[in-house]
Amino acid sequence: MSYANKIEQSANLIDKLRQVIEKDELFLVFQPQLHLSNNKITGIETLVRWKHDSEIISPVDFIPLAEQSGLIVPIGEWILNQACLIAKQLVELGYIDIIVAVNVSPRQFSHPSFSASVHQALRQSGLSPRNLELEITEGVFMHNEVATLEVLHELKSSGISLSIDDFGTGYSSLSYLKRLPIDKLKIDQSFIRDCHHNEEDRVIVSTIVELGKSLGLSLIAEGVEESVHVDFLKSLQCDEIQGYWYSRPIEAAQLFEFMKKASV
Ligand code: C2E
Ligand code: MG
Ligand code: MG
Repeated sequence: MSYANKIEQSANLIDKLRQVIEKDELFLVFQPQLHLSNNKITGIETLVRWKHDSEIISPVDFIPLAEQSGLIVPIGEWILNQACLIAKQLVELGYIDIIVAVNVSPRQFSHPSFSASVHQALRQSGLSPRNLELEITEGVFMHNEVATLEVLHELKSSGISLSIDDFGTGYSSLSYLKRLPIDKLKIDQSFIRDCHHNEEDRVIVSTIVELGKSLGLSLIAEGVEESVHVDFLKSLQCDEIQGYWYSRPIEAAQLFEFMKKASV
């Protein structure tokens, strides 16, 4: 596709994105996270999908456009509200310690009303902040570190958990780990994918686990697809795993069924 065509296609998609909420075209899927020490589901990641003209568009294709156009702010609010409602239903079903994670993109995070919209989503759903986790990427604190720190501390002090998504793929200095009130590192799936063949990947994963543990952080590996990945991560005493090996992302109704089966 030519560059001009690509730009036109993006502009077209952005136009359609503007109506995505009123047309009710977004939906959420959920991926359970398994704790390796007790085989229990301790967390769930929320992932968004866009259903348009009977086609499902991946967030990889539309979240960058939503960021670019600023539409990530209303879309992100919608995602937070829906995720908190589902989390509240889980708590009411008896999963009182479940933590539901929501991805937050940099432009959404740096919007002045971000923190207020998180508190609003909690209030409206009646969810306790201790059942909510926000996943941020290193991109969030590359700019305006002072303002970022302030928002993170405020969210953290209200009881919300914070994790760093795609850890190991950013280019920023590791010194931020000392200053930020982070709970968890999510080891990027690119290191897990080939770790059964590739010694370098194994070294990177074990170094991240060691680093996280030394800093008192909890660790989760993403993109765990094979039982050899699970064995390796167990040997490192990585806390949690997430990936197709345990469950693909599933819709809310399926999630409730999955949780019921997993807890017996
Ligand atoms: P992420 O937050 O790192 O999410 C993990 C991605 O890996 C998800 O892709 C998930 O479906 C996929 N995945 C999970 N297990 C496996 C596995 O075993 N193997 C492989 N190959 N992939 C696996 P998805 O849902 O397409 O999302 C892609 C990215 O889009 C996310 O990466 C996140 O950066 C962004 N995204 C998704 N939902 C949201 C959202 O609600 N808000 C924002 N701001 N970004 C989102
Ligand atoms: Mg994520
Ligand atoms: Mg990730």
